[in-house]
Amino acid sequence: MRDLIIAGNWKMNKTFSETEEFLLELTKRTDDKQLNDVKIIICPPSLYFEICSDFTQDREISIGAQNVSEHEFGAYTGEISAPMLSSMDLDNCIVGHSERRKYFAESDKIVNSKIKSLLEYDIDPIVCIGESLSQREKGITKDVIQQQLSGAFKDIDLNSNIIIAYEPIWAIGTGKTASSKQAQEIHKFIRNWIKKEYSNKIAEKVHILYGGSMKPHNIEELIKQPDIDGGLIGGASLVTEKFNKMIDVAISMRK
Ligand code: PEP
Repeated sequence: MRDLIIAGNWKMNKTFSETEEFLLELTKRTDDKQLNDVKIIICPPSLYFEICSDFTQDREISIGAQNVSEHEFGAYTGEISAPMLSSMDLDNCIVGHSERRKYFAESDKIVNSKIKSLLEYDIDPIVCIGESLSQREKGITKDVIQQQLSGAFKDIDLNSNIIIAYEPIWAIGTGKTASSKQAQEIHKFIRNWIKKEYSNKIAEKVHILYGGSMKPHNIEELIKQPDIDGGLIGGASLVTEKFNKMIDVAISMRK
């Protein structure tokens, strides 16, 4: 059985003191918990990697970045590279988030280069894919997903700790969650694609997270689905009570 992953994507939120407060609260709440194969990842803005690492070392909480440059080093003002993330001992990095695809023209080709760069430095990518509302309404969701998968994983050995996050764009930050049936259908489609392109064994290993308005009240129904292995959580990961509640639900389902 795959373990469950509860990952928080903070996006561009929290000041330094709010970060400190959150970490104090979160670690206070998680210190006594038996995580039972539930993996916690937090993806803060890169400025806060160090303080996050200070709080999470010796604890079962991983830190991830929200983005990485496709280049290793050089004149790319404002960018952060995979060797830099690796030098900060980061475990994960989100790539291909729909906000980066939309605002920073991140194509599948760029996503592919970023994944390769991360793998070279032993950082596990969290690869986001998902359709827009108009694509869903046109009935081309699976075509879009297949195209994103083929582009993102071109020439990549999926036999590593790659995490895929299915995040329907229409559900991100909107309060509209995909129903568990809608989400499971696409998660199963993704797993079948991995089976076809790689192998059954790899498909059974890869974690596929759901993202898009996942909250304490809907997480259980979603992660109950056989192909949903946890969540990539935006808004609700910013509030300790909500994030903690979602961790509790995941733990209770792994007991
Ligand atoms: C996200 O941005 O990855 C996300 C899922 O956001 P939210 O939970 O706020 O919809």
